[in-house]
Amino acid sequence: DRSQHVDFGDIEVDDPGSDEVSEPSGVPDTILEVRKSLPVYRYRKEFLDLVEANQIIVVVGETGSGKTTQLPQYLHEAGYTLKDGKILKVGCTQPRRVAAMSVAKRVAEEMGARLGEEVGYSMRFEALTSEKTVLQYLTDGMLLREFMTDPELSSYSALMIDEAHERTISTEVILSLLKDITKVRKNLKVIVASATINAEKFSQFFDNAPIFNVPGRRFPVDIHFTKSPEANYIQAAMTTVFQIHTTQGPGDILVFLTGQDEIETMQESIDEACERPGSLIKKLIVCPIYANLPSELQSKIFEPTPPDCRKVVLATNIAETSITIDGISYVIDPGYVKENVFNPATGMESLVVVPCSRASANQRAGRAGRVGPGKCFRLYTKWSFDNELQLNPTPEILRADLTQIVLLLLSLGITDLVNFDFMDPPSSNALIKSLELLYALGALNSSGSLTKTGRLMAKFPISPKFTKSLITGSDLKVISQILSVVAILGESSNLFYRPKDKKEQADSRKESFAEPQGDHLMLLNLWNQWKDTGYSNQWCQDNFVQYKTLKRTKEVREQLERLCYHAGMFDESDEPVDLAPEEQTLRIQKAIVSGFFTNVARLSKMGDSFKTIKKNQTVSIHPSSVVYKLKPPPKLILYHELVLTSKEFMRNCMTIDDEWLREAAPHYYSSKELEMVAKKKK
Ligand code: ADP
Ligand code: MG
Repeated sequence: DRSQHVDFGDIEVDDPGSDEVSEPSGVPDTILEVRKSLPVYRYRKEFLDLVEANQIIVVVGETGSGKTTQLPQYLHEAGYTLKDGKILKVGCTQPRRVAAMSVAKRVAEEMGARLGEEVGYSMRFEALTSEKTVLQYLTDGMLLREFMTDPELSSYSALMIDEAHERTISTEVILSLLKDITKVRKNLKVIVASATINAEKFSQFFDNAPIFNVPGRRFPVDIHFTKSPEANYIQAAMTTVFQIHTTQGPGDILVFLTGQDEIETMQESIDEACERPGSLIKKLIVCPIYANLPSELQSKIFEPTPPDCRKVVLATNIAETSITIDGISYVIDPGYVKENVFNPATGMESLVVVPCSRASANQRAGRAGRVGPGKCFRLYTKWSFDNELQLNPTPEILRADLTQIVLLLLSLGITDLVNFDFMDPPSSNALIKSLELLYALGALNSSGSLTKTGRLMAKFPISPKFTKSLITGSDLKVISQILSVVAILGESSNLFYRPKDKKEQADSRKESFAEPQGDHLMLLNLWNQWKDTGYSNQWCQDNFVQYKTLKRTKEVREQLERLCYHAGMFDESDEPVDLAPEEQTLRIQKAIVSGFFTNVARLSKMGDSFKTIKKNQTVSIHPSSVVYKLKPPPKLILYHELVLTSKEFMRNCMTIDDEWLREAAPHYYSSKELEMVAKKKK
């Protein structure tokens, strides 16, 4: 785009015509040679000796040095997976699903094994393992759940807790639990692996466990800042891609965006610009990568770039340290990240795009220097880097909703949460808020112990609010419908799509699913229609609905259904078939309210905005909601989640009746709060 320009000051212009791809000499060509060429390979013996001599070690190394793919294999080769003729596993945790899956795939290839046999992976709602599995890559959330069925993790001989620097809640709780069980299981080896930050802290946590440093190769990276702040970082990133493409030498580009929606928007714009006739010298190949990217599309980012092309990888901060993409010479860093932020004062969690930390920005820049000298283009000023970015990211445990983790710890018999050995203890206020919610949901009794409901909730790998809705759905004989709603809600943010040239058609198809009660019932309606077509792909295309998203929803639903069966909550035989449609809808709504009664807002006195009931926080209906268009606006709304962009938006809304609140949460809302809501009705 000629009219646009992002000003980074003076940047030398490479000759874009020159095609000399600097082929490094002695490029390894067999998979074994590739393995031997990785930085960790030289330290193989040293690593194994250190593991032999210590129960817990901390491994630190530059991204791409081979920690994740190689270290578990070394342990396997050294015999850690066989004891007295019995198979034991080496587990390796990842905070992100995509990383777990893609690394498992790579390692299976390296071992000449079929994925799911010797090398497997497991994550929530998805697993590929067998009795033969010796190397298991799994999400940290998944390992955490294994403590519930096998508190000493007896099927593992070693565990590598990878990407520890990410400081996810699950990883941190795992570290605390491991600190405990290693005292009992003396032969369990623990390897805490992290990128080059925070290593000291992990070592201290484990009573000064030895730190093993893997020196990585890293070429210099030139850092460029914009001269002035950029108002629209997506636009600026897009413009920078073309500036690099037309002025800089060979090498692929990596752009850090905050989420799938941004990635898709940008992918569309780049593809569109490239299709304009005669505009570009060489072709750009756009590869997206984000947490929910379907596995069949993931391998594309690892395919070598054809000689006359340049690859543009559009990634979330998954590419910061957890996935290494070879061939990147240019990094574009808008400086943002999307985080879940919980406010204990309001008891609410929002998805928020926030500036990333300086540590993150430096990791991102480093991605440009793996194959040779690189360049990093930061879409913010030097001043803002020095003055506005915080040094390190805030650990998730200090900012996210703890309800699920508190429930899990309680179910593991850990009741003294205040004295639990967290790396960074959460505030007692945050813990109390979680306990209060669990009490309101019926998971705890008044003396603070888990109830039968609470134990049941702990078995479900979903928010206790969802499980509560399922339980009520079961009592009200609408569990089948609630299962569909729960499964599809989790995936709803990337369900609909609007092709540029068919926006109106897409919108009108979407409207055809609308239900006056709101989005939950709209989604259920959509689900039922899709089911009636025999889960047709064509139907999805006709309705501008993502087939892959619905397919995933179907899998999630099947797994939840199985859990419900095992819990005795699902019995088709006693489901009344002759429920009047209105009665059925009413019961569905009540079941949803029973889980999500905390997420309610009422129309303000002026009738121009909404206020949350407990904290009187101003919130608005998200324009994508069915409820957005209702005239007059509903008096009382239940929302599924809050999303903070230009303001605090309620996404996925349902109109509700104040009576249902009273029924669902008699001890959560004060009678004053309930009265106020009731008055509003007139
Ligand atoms: P680290 O964990 O130290 O960051 P990894 O073990 O993830 O390093 O990566 C080592 C090498 O393996 C990298 O050069 C990377 O390109 C390669 N690699 C990792 N995953 C894949 C994959 N799915 N496909 C192809 N190559 C991969
Ligand atoms: Mg790694």
